[in-house]
Amino acid sequence: MFKGITKRWVLNTLLVVVVVVLFVVFCLSYAVRIYYYHSVSQTLSSASAEFQSVLENYTSDSPAFASTARGYVENFEGKEKMEITAIDAFGNVIITSTGFTPDSTEQMPDYLKATGENLSYYEWTGKLSSNENVKAVTRLIKNSEGDTIGAVRCIISLTDIDRTIGTAIALFCGFGLLIISLVVFSGLYFVRSIVTPVRELSETAKKIAQGDFNTKIEKTHDDEIGDLCDSINNMATELGASERLKNDFISSVSHELRTPLTAIKGWAETMQYCGTVDKETFDKGMDIIVKESSRLTSIVEELLDFSRLQSGRMILMQEKLDILAELDEVLYMMKERAISEEKHLLYDKPEAMPPVEGDKNKLRQVFINIIDNALKYTQSEGVVGIQVLDKNDFVSVVVTDTGCGIAPDDLPRIKDKFYKANQNVRGSGIGLAIADEIIALHGGSLDIESGIGVGTTVTISIPVAK
Ligand code: ADP
Repeated sequence: MFKGITKRWVLNTLLVVVVVVLFVVFCLSYAVRIYYYHSVSQTLSSASAEFQSVLENYTSDSPAFASTARGYVENFEGKEKMEITAIDAFGNVIITSTGFTPDSTEQMPDYLKATGENLSYYEWTGKLSSNENVKAVTRLIKNSEGDTIGAVRCIISLTDIDRTIGTAIALFCGFGLLIISLVVFSGLYFVRSIVTPVRELSETAKKIAQGDFNTKIEKTHDDEIGDLCDSINNMATELGASERLKNDFISSVSHELRTPLTAIKGWAETMQYCGTVDKETFDKGMDIIVKESSRLTSIVEELLDFSRLQSGRMILMQEKLDILAELDEVLYMMKERAISEEKHLLYDKPEAMPPVEGDKNKLRQVFINIIDNALKYTQSEGVVGIQVLDKNDFVSVVVTDTGCGIAPDDLPRIKDKFYKANQNVRGSGIGLAIADEIIALHGGSLDIESGIGVGTTVTISIPVAK
């Protein structure tokens, strides 16, 4: 009937509340009954003791016994509530406060027990032949020799008391039911306020798992559930964004691969068609095929590095090296390109730099990425300047360009994988992510400062070898 959280609430809370309420109602009812019955017993005891003290100086066969008893009974004030009876030594009723001669068939179990077992006092609770519930006590009157010379008997009807106790129990039960109903209503409201949004959350999570990242859940409560709604909504937005980035990445990479492939295929077909007859065309074609193939190789290398980084499999082949020598190699490769793109590549080479501990190929790759970006995002006639500085136990390579710059909104995300601030320029959006990770593995840092229309400055800092 109940499932999930509702079932847990019923078992853990409602059941406990019901048991506690039942227990309290039972204890209270029992206490009320004890209280009333006990006060009846006390009334009977004191009334019988008083009556006995009046009669104990007489023998029951003397006329004084009967007249004293009669006088006492006639003046007895509690007649309305209690019946008092004087009994002689032979068990005959001398006088009773009701004024009627008692029914001789009516048993007097308390009197029989007291006399039978010679008990000076005995209390009995039970039903009369009229079905009336009563409490009766018998107190024997004894002479100085210890012989029973008579008895007094007091009876109180329990009908009114039982009715009062019944009313009290009914009140307790009603109060208990009220508490249980309140707990049920408030509990069900509370459980529903959790279960309903959790169900919606689960539906939304299923939709997100199926790829519907636009789905949103409405935040109805400003509490932990509300926070969970916010987190799921944020998660959907983030997943949607990373899905878009991934798709952009695939299309950028495909485009990156297609451009050199188209060139290679085109020139290969031209050469196939022309043969070796046209030496000039053949040489130009070969040149382009070789260049585009190495571009393809570097794209694939970059992708492989990225996948190694993702799986944490990138290992550095550390050695002591001179950063200036590595930079020279890279600049040698880049010089031709800068000239052909009509950009000024300025290098302010220092005399010497302290050696650093690092992976030659990886650091070269970082320099290529950063200088490639500087050239890529700078228009012709622009300037790309390179400086190497030695400060605070770090060797820093500073690459400054006068290119388009990066918008302040894009700047914090520029090192994220797949993130491209400029969609119109070729690139996969993973170059800076790889460079940043490689420099971090060297214990250094890669800092970017930029302004739109001003240009960009990238500072690569690597610790000096100990
Ligand atoms: P990509 O292969 O697209 O260049 P990167 O990770 O190298 O990827 O760079 C990420 C983004 O950072 C680029 O898309 C570009 O928008 C921006 N960027 C990087 N370097 C520069 C720069 N020197 N000038 C302007 N924008 C840059």
